[in-house]
Amino acid sequence: MSNPNPLHQKETEWHGEVYFIETGGIPPDDPAFAEHERASKGRPWTAALGFDFDGTIDEAPAFFTELTRTWTGPIYCVTYREDAAKVAADVEKIGLRNVEVVLVNSFAEKADVIKRLNIKVFFDDMDEVLMHIPADVIVFKIRNAGNYCFETQKWLYSSRTGKQK
Ligand SMILES: [Mg+2]
Repeated sequence: MSNPNPLHQKETEWHGEVYFIETGGIPPDDPAFAEHERASKGRPWTAALGFDFDGTIDEAPAFFTELTRTWTGPIYCVTYREDAAKVAADVEKIGLRNVEVVLVNSFAEKADVIKRLNIKVFFDDMDEVLMHIPADVIVFKIRNAGNYCFETQKWLYSSRTGKQK
């Protein structure tokens, strides 16, 4: 099976039902390489990245650690907590780097901060927050026991945050 993405065409290998792709990037002698370098200035993402703390980064610390090590734009932890120093210590303890901590007092304020800091990719676990985030922000919702029933395999939401299709 071939992947049409030129960034993912180096080698592929099947391991059972898992499809591994070795990403080698665009070869330097490919004309697309210069264009890619010009467009990205050698950086994959320069937009601001943001994430919630509780129920989000603590659900997948290794993933967020890796993400903050490779992200080249500003990174913010926007959290509904009261002690910035404690949050910064907890963020550091998880292993995240280059993260600015921003405290908010309400769900709406969190969305407002996302807008003002020009955050374009945001991770959170609560619909009450995500519903306020501007449409041009890429949103990733983290699943946890507070928003998902693993027994019935259904998302938990209220009439205020969700509707049936
Ligand atoms: Mg949360």
